[in-house]
Amino acid sequence: MELFEQKTAELESYCKQLGHSSFRGRQIADWLYKKGARLPSEMTNLPGSLRDELNASCTITRSKIIKKSKAPDGTTKFLLELGDGETVETVLLPYADRLSVCVSSQIGCSAGCMFCATAMCGLIRNLTAGEIIDQVLTLQEQAKNRVTHVVFMGMGEPLMNMPNVLKAIHLLNEEVGVSMRRITVSTVGITPAINKLAEMDLQLTLALSLHAPDDEVRKKLIPLASRFPIGELIKTCRDYADRTKRRVTSEYLLIAGVNDSPAQASKLAGLLKGMLCHVNLIPYNEVPDKPYKRPGRQSIAAFRQVLEDAGIEVTQRLERGHSVSGACGQLRRSTHQK
Ligand code: SAH
Repeated sequence: MELFEQKTAELESYCKQLGHSSFRGRQIADWLYKKGARLPSEMTNLPGSLRDELNASCTITRSKIIKKSKAPDGTTKFLLELGDGETVETVLLPYADRLSVCVSSQIGCSAGCMFCATAMCGLIRNLTAGEIIDQVLTLQEQAKNRVTHVVFMGMGEPLMNMPNVLKAIHLLNEEVGVSMRRITVSTVGITPAINKLAEMDLQLTLALSLHAPDDEVRKKLIPLASRFPIGELIKTCRDYADRTKRRVTSEYLLIAGVNDSPAQASKLAGLLKGMLCHVNLIPYNEVPDKPYKRPGRQSIAAFRQVLEDAGIEVTQRLERGHSVSGACGQLRRSTHQK
């Protein structure tokens, strides 16, 4: 059995099954999720017989850091090697008052967004819940500080790996101790999956990668969007916000000459009017071999102004980590092409 993705309750019943006190399960959880133990032999407060049993019948699968690149602003991108030799990207983002980790939910991605580096390799496989939380714990160990925020904005589409992502979220919340409200799930916009998430009524933050104010432009950037028309998608996000009372983030990637005109800003404002949300503007991070360009500062400011004049709250992603191949999928790609 893989230990490094079992909740305390599961470890308690496993210990009981082996004829030990359920209290041992809590100790194992503490070793795994708080103390970073990688071997049963490190769990020194367990009876030797239990350690032997764990050794014989369980694995603890943790990643290995194979590459680390740190930008001057402290943003550090890691390439982690998993148990089967596959690699995954994770980014550590230190701020004055918080420590964020940007995690991947899949190796590669099947969404096929035209501007995205991850899309170029297609979907290789889903990550397990253990592999997702390993990213947070590995970076927490590296930072020697507690991770306060987790964003699912690395490689992959979290809502296409729902069971494992949900399990990881519960482990992060209940075992690692990250507050639900400080966990953000970013999605390309899978309407039925957002509905399901709303029904669960978790206190998560939902971020929608909107990137266009209408189906015509959105479909060009996100081929998958042809299956999920924007009207219904926005309605679902409005319902999500009403039900959970959580403000939804609308992510809007700005690409020169594609989706950055003042008219498009005004259309976007109309689409989001009255919704409990804010728009996070993301100037495009250029990807080699892709034709898309980042708009100039003036167009970005003009786009922002139209939204603000319409009463929409706007934030702009801090431009961090450029020099570490900050955009989704770029580091893995640069390594695999060598
Ligand atoms: N699949 C999820 C999460 C992963 S990507 C989603 O689509 O939301 C996280 C965010 O980074 C998304 O908004 C995505 O559109 C954006 N992104 C991808 N490539 C980018 C690039 N080159 N520059 C800036 N943002 C990018």
